[in-house]
Amino acid sequence: MQKQYLRGRSLLTSMAALALAVTGFSTSSVFAQTESKARWYKGNTHTHTLKSDGDSTPEEVTKWYRDNGYNFLFITDHEMITPVDELNKAFGKNGEFVVFTGQEVTDRLDGKPYHVNGLGVTKVTMPNRGKTVVENLQLNIDGVQSSGGIAQINHPNFGWALNAEQIAQVKQIKLMEVFNGHFMVNNLGGGGSPSVENIWDSVLSKGTLIYGIASDDVHTVRHLGERNFATPGHGWIMVRATQLDLRSIMDALSRGDFYASTGVELDEIAVNKRSISIKIKADQWSKYDIRFIGKNGRILKESVGPIASYSIKGDEGYVRVKATDSNGQAAWTQPVWFGRK
Ligand SMILES: [Zn+2]
Ligand SMILES: [Zn+2]
Repeated sequence: MQKQYLRGRSLLTSMAALALAVTGFSTSSVFAQTESKARWYKGNTHTHTLKSDGDSTPEEVTKWYRDNGYNFLFITDHEMITPVDELNKAFGKNGEFVVFTGQEVTDRLDGKPYHVNGLGVTKVTMPNRGKTVVENLQLNIDGVQSSGGIAQINHPNFGWALNAEQIAQVKQIKLMEVFNGHFMVNNLGGGGSPSVENIWDSVLSKGTLIYGIASDDVHTVRHLGERNFATPGHGWIMVRATQLDLRSIMDALSRGDFYASTGVELDEIAVNKRSISIKIKADQWSKYDIRFIGKNGRILKESVGPIASYSIKGDEGYVRVKATDSNGQAAWTQPVWFGRK
């Protein structure tokens, strides 16, 4: 009997394959690359230490993430590549935990912050200070990519700096934060301004395929549990890869083979050309809702409980899944994309 849900093959790999399929490429190579021995790795892509404006040493921060179930950590100090070789000697474990280099490119324009993470970079991109918001972002994203990294647009609502029109105009961007764990970043919007998730839907609806990241933007591991400190453990990504190394993680990020989470974990997930199915790894004490979301943020289907599936019609523009629990936690899958990128 064929299993309804595919444990060994990820939703997101399948999503990536489907995205390619509907844009006219073969799916087989994507499956061939990732089908065998792939597993989920938990990681944080936004991390500060004493090397910039964090208050804890790189060793203290790394130890916290290693001791709390993470598999990888990108350290992204402002305008600084914090060395990771000694951290990996002290805390790394083959296939279990690794630290990667990064930088937060920290730009401003007209008093507003425009921050872009460079994941996997080995040399600093100095903020380029373009004349417009889009030019500013593009110069910094191009700088990250020419340094061998993947760019991630950070906290769009910090300082109410960014909107969907601006993000949609940027070229060669694959990642944006849809959740940032810092206490000043206005994830939920309000007061007439859209949430970061609404901004994500608007960017997608304008025809720009961009994947959603949840991250900590951690600045301290010395003030755990205290209000108004940017503490760890709030938002992360689960990346599907065949091995735990920089290349494999970066490749998975590039093809959208991951989901973002603030606490909801996905157990079994499946996509084919006809349907998307999802099963949450349920806690005994929580109740769950699953929403299938399409173009312009339209709710295509809403389902109660930890298991749901959606029949694809083909005219949705894209379909993404948001799973929430009764304690305020969520998981966001990447969009299954119909049509041109
Ligand atoms: Zn920032
Ligand atoms: Zn930051």
